[in-house]
Amino acid sequence: MPLNTAYIALGSNLGDRLGQMQTALDRLAEASIEVHVVSPVYENRAMGMGEAEPFLNAVAGVRTSLQPLALLELCLEVESGLGRVRSAHWAPRTVDLDILDYAELELKTTRLHLPHQRIEERDFVLYPLRAIAPDLRIRGQRVADLAARLPMDALTRHAFSLHLPNV
Ligand code: AMP
Repeated sequence: MPLNTAYIALGSNLGDRLGQMQTALDRLAEASIEVHVVSPVYENRAMGMGEAEPFLNAVAGVRTSLQPLALLELCLEVESGLGRVRSAHWAPRTVDLDILDYAELELKTTRLHLPHQRIEERDFVLYPLRAIAPDLRIRGQRVADLAARLPMDALTRHAFSLHLPNV
């Protein structure tokens, strides 16, 4: 089976944020996703969520034989396994997983947009993505160039890191 490279954004702003992000990575690996690189972790203010905890954000580079929709299904399963309840759109979330890019494929269906929408506007996505994939192209533009154009807003490097799953 050919392996495709994808980039998955992880975010959490509820409970043991780093621990839940690590568990999400481990679950992906248990499901035969090869997690080969993880970015540093960034801390971001929780936009539009009042008094909620700030988000931790990171990006993982993976290789998988799953097709994009199957990868999305798996991400949603991992999210719900970690207790995410889809109540309000901006509700706090134990773990949010978004497929940022899948083999530089462009796809627009009701369930899946690739590359993920709004990457270009989000420092909390672009900075960790640049750390592991500066030359990746999003809608024709290099991630490093997109990040250079977007100043870091309320984003800082977090003191702790994620590690590659040991499977
Ligand atoms: P949210 O968790 O609020 O970011 O929204 C998740 C929903 O967005 C999923 O149920 C997907 O159907 C949809 N979606 C569209 N494109 C993507 C993508 N690239 N990665 C993850 N979810 C996506």
